[in-house]
Amino acid sequence: MTEKNFPAATILGYPRIGRRRELKKAVEAYWAGTSSAAELEAAADTIQLATLRRLTELGLTEPSAIPGTFSFYDQVLDTAVALGAVPARFGALHDADGELGLDAYFTLARGNAEQQPLEMTKWFDTNYHYLVPEIGPETAFSLSSDRVVDEFRFAQANGVVTRPYLVGPVTFLLLSKASDDAPEGFAPLSRLDDVLPVYAQLLERLGAAGAEWVQLDEPALVADLDSAAGATSAEVSAAVERAYAALTASAVGTAGRPQILLSAPYGGLGEQAAAVAATGVEAVAIDLFKGAVPSAEELPEVAKKFAGKTLVAGVVDGHNIWRNDLKASAAKLDSLRAAGLDVAVGTSTSTFHVPHDVEEETQLDAGLRSWLAFADQKVGEVATLAGYLADPESAQAAIDEVSRVLASRAEAPGVRRAEVRERTAALTDADFSRSDFAARAAAQEAELHLPPLPTTTIGSFPQTSQVRGARARLNKGVIGEAEYERLMKDEIKRVVDLQEELGFDVLVHGEPERNDMVQYFAENLDGFDVTVHGWVQSYGSRCTRPSILWGDVSRPAPITVPWAEYAQSLTDKPMKGMLTGPVTILAWSFVRNDQPLAETANQVALALRDEIADLEAAGIKVIQVDEPALRELLPLRRADQPAYLDWSVKSFRLATAGAADATQVHTHLCYSEFGVIIDAIDGLDADVTSIEAARSRMEVVNDLESHGFGRGVGPGVYDIHSPRVPSQGEIEELLATAVAHVPSRQLWVNPDCGLKTRGYAETEESLRNLVEATKVARGVLAANA
Ligand code: GLN
Ligand code: ZN
Repeated sequence: MTEKNFPAATILGYPRIGRRRELKKAVEAYWAGTSSAAELEAAADTIQLATLRRLTELGLTEPSAIPGTFSFYDQVLDTAVALGAVPARFGALHDADGELGLDAYFTLARGNAEQQPLEMTKWFDTNYHYLVPEIGPETAFSLSSDRVVDEFRFAQANGVVTRPYLVGPVTFLLLSKASDDAPEGFAPLSRLDDVLPVYAQLLERLGAAGAEWVQLDEPALVADLDSAAGATSAEVSAAVERAYAALTASAVGTAGRPQILLSAPYGGLGEQAAAVAATGVEAVAIDLFKGAVPSAEELPEVAKKFAGKTLVAGVVDGHNIWRNDLKASAAKLDSLRAAGLDVAVGTSTSTFHVPHDVEEETQLDAGLRSWLAFADQKVGEVATLAGYLADPESAQAAIDEVSRVLASRAEAPGVRRAEVRERTAALTDADFSRSDFAARAAAQEAELHLPPLPTTTIGSFPQTSQVRGARARLNKGVIGEAEYERLMKDEIKRVVDLQEELGFDVLVHGEPERNDMVQYFAENLDGFDVTVHGWVQSYGSRCTRPSILWGDVSRPAPITVPWAEYAQSLTDKPMKGMLTGPVTILAWSFVRNDQPLAETANQVALALRDEIADLEAAGIKVIQVDEPALRELLPLRRADQPAYLDWSVKSFRLATAGAADATQVHTHLCYSEFGVIIDAIDGLDADVTSIEAARSRMEVVNDLESHGFGRGVGPGVYDIHSPRVPSQGEIEELLATAVAHVPSRQLWVNPDCGLKTRGYAETEESLRNLVEATKVARGVLAANA
């Protein structure tokens, strides 16, 4: 084999769940035992074949243009399994041939009777979750799965030379965590030299099978990872140098290795650009959407550094759904080429963050549809831009058409609405702050009369099949609005009665009427639309269907007020009003790209502020505004984080600052790594903040103590991610730990998160233990007083 040029057009990855979520159905049937491994493999083949055909038809016709990014569960897990990186706690999972099969793979992803699965965490600044490999000094690496080679061969047998994909060695180790048995301070990156031979062996096998290019994905190079990863920027550069010196040492060609595309999605390479440029890889994919396009002054230097490599210019955004401004992209490509770079066209990231195909959404307004590009449309855009590079004339009609569409978008009704704009323009500092906490706390105490260690839950109660069934029947027109409302009210009454019986202090209505905490608001606000088939993978077989925030946001009518009012009428205890915060609404939607996020967030905040005023008028005294995604949108570069925290915190404050002193504002955040954003949490200025803490055994109280956090706080005492019922004694211990670190007058008692995914039986038992443990803790406090 001789060296082959990099294809002129490519994408960094493609949705793998299937156009109709076929993979979800196939893996879940396999897990449930209702289908065989052979049936699962056959379903995977069908999906891969459909992808190959579709991408070829859309214009990815050159060899190696189609990336081999299929996965049964997660790409990080795929790479861990290929490397044989099984944590010792799982015992022997390899079969007699030293292979990790499908069952071993799913055991790591889902756990077994004795072992928890690998931990899951967010993949860069996206809502996708990957599995975190556990690496220790003793982890044995050996090539343990040929799946990536088999998938290459499968495509080849069907007439397509794909570009196999692996998570690159530096990113793989930087995203791993030290295994439980590793000594204090152990950094997985220290095992770099031990994983490289396995990568090299795999590359050789791929080369022998006929792969011309492989893609090694190195997104960790665009992020300032938390200190937990333990590597300085210089150490990361050194790792890049060592890793790629080893992987490019052998010659390209038969019996040697394929050429290497190093991809760096989700941001600019920044300080790592020099290290990447100095490697021997044959091509580098950079994100020209999140990352900056080099300026005219910088370009000659960039061109010199990347001489001899193909630069795959990620000018089409893989992570959002808006139609590409082809004219702007063509200009970026022109500037790179004029500097003498060898340029190919690509997406900025894999397109698995967006749905398959806009054409499926026939119910959307034709105007809105014309502004959108899902994965399939993005492939078309990449192909058009590659055509532009070959012959500018050939692309002119397409470029002009997009310019017309984008101009029409700017003018379309609902995109910019005067009444919304006037309101945000008139905001002053006073709109962002409440009175001092001390004054509020006194007013709330007089209003609410709560006992010490007040008990509450996070909002949702189990969504039973009756509740989901009722919604499905409403959507199909089998039942009417009135019948649906009656069924939801029955459920609310049952939830309120249960909390009364258990002895909770601040009640919730249980959120049965909500399909999803963001979509529910999107469906009730102006400026949003929802899709029918727009599923994207969240983790494993789980998918979400983000809403589209395309226009100016406002609230045509109260949303949650009638439900809250009804729930309050059933009890004398305070009922919490329950809203989703502006940052979370943005994070879990596809958000317009024609203005800064901060501006959009303020529009959402004002709609929520009106809702809060109406809840107060309806007699609701406690209002929770959930912000579980506050951490998720945090920029990957430290330098960009303060500006984000500033606008995100402000939007929360704008939503809540209209509340009266006597109204108690709660917020809920879903994670426990507080260190990083504790100042921001403080900045939210909520009266009470509930957080996750049960799994980490209350570690977070140390952060709260050292920070001197002064307002109400409810570190979760019940891990709702598992069906396990915490005992009363266990909760008593967690409460004792909390009381030892945080003044008891600040403490609340609650579960880690909403109970939506749990069953009623285990929920009831757990909540009973929570209330009983609280009574004991109160007794201890009284005795010590
Ligand atoms: N109030 C929401 C619930 O209880 C919060 C969910 C979340 O934090 N993700 O379901
Ligand atoms: Zn939560």
